[in-house]
Amino acid sequence: MPSSLEDKIYNSLRKVIDPDFKKDLVSLNMIDDLTIDGKNNVSFAIALTTPVCPVKDFFKQECIQYLRADNPQIRKIHIDFTVQKKKKKSHFFSQVHHAVVVASGKGGVGKSLVAANLAIALKNMGARIGILDADIYGPSVPTIFHTEGSYPGVKKVGNKNYLIPIAKQGIKMLSMGYLAKPQQAVIWRGPMASSAIKQFLLDTDWGELDYLIIDLPPGTGDIHLSICQNVSLSGALIVTTPQKIALIDAVKAVQMFQQKHIRVPILGVIENMSYFSPPKTSEEKYYLFGKDGGKRLASQYEIPFLGEIPIDTPMREAADAGTLLENFTKSDKNTTFTKISEQLVRNIAKLSSS
Ligand code: ADP
Repeated sequence: MPSSLEDKIYNSLRKVIDPDFKKDLVSLNMIDDLTIDGKNNVSFAIALTTPVCPVKDFFKQECIQYLRADNPQIRKIHIDFTVQKKKKKSHFFSQVHHAVVVASGKGGVGKSLVAANLAIALKNMGARIGILDADIYGPSVPTIFHTEGSYPGVKKVGNKNYLIPIAKQGIKMLSMGYLAKPQQAVIWRGPMASSAIKQFLLDTDWGELDYLIIDLPPGTGDIHLSICQNVSLSGALIVTTPQKIALIDAVKAVQMFQQKHIRVPILGVIENMSYFSPPKTSEEKYYLFGKDGGKRLASQYEIPFLGEIPIDTPMREAADAGTLLENFTKSDKNTTFTKISEQLVRNIAKLSSS
């Protein structure tokens, strides 16, 4: 019996291979709502793991190419994109599809600035984003996003109160900086700090988020453990400068995530402050803190190296002035963060499917 057009379409779509998962779209259950009308017009949706999937246009082109080559009887082809739904569990955190911690080991290497830029890049790519400033002894999110003096909302569900994050231009954010003055937070002891972070994670209505970026405090302390133990993390990013003294602490962070009872996959190393290029001679690079330290760390621990970020005075000024969010789209430097974010979402998708 000759196979139906539907069978033929599925056979063609089996030729489209996801470059990350190395499997075809049909085996990955990514083809939804296939319809063929009486005139052989075909429509279906490709169900992505993330709305910012960097290979979605590739999928579309490949589908069209194979469908056309194999099935000349098809007239129009219409392809939509949808996002694979996550099953809802009881508490709000289950609506966060992927939580990613940004860690550094040493303070001052630019972890918070990198976390903020990644949040903005992912948001600009179309993802639903939250940023949790877990650096409760030195919160940066209120300054970087110019939301100092804002207060998170509170909502009651049953007899329990939940926090509502602050939202600015589509990014949801929460930080101890909104709730306590810095001098108050500094005197908090470990258990108090951990319980505050637990509340930020579990007793907050984040809504549905594709990615929650968690800016960790420097070091490897109670807050890190509390986060790793209370929620399931999609992975950790390590930020370091190329300098030996920063790399030594970055290794400690890597080792912490690799411990048996923690086991958080490391999504990649980002090297910050890699070099300085004078504005007038931007092709010249001065490696003020050494060269390729981040790359060496990544290769030593077999972790993906996601990229180098130069010392960038306008970016630093924008972060201090709270205008990073407004400046980002205007700056041509943001391609670095966009590229890193694209690699990041691919690495997350790969890990969460394995
Ligand atoms: P951490 O979170 O690791 O403690 P921060 O993100 O607070 O570090 O960065 C420390 C300081 O360095 C901040 O003033 C920040 O604006 C600045 N900074 C970080 N990265 C860069 C960079 N690539 N270029 C210029 N300034 C930077």
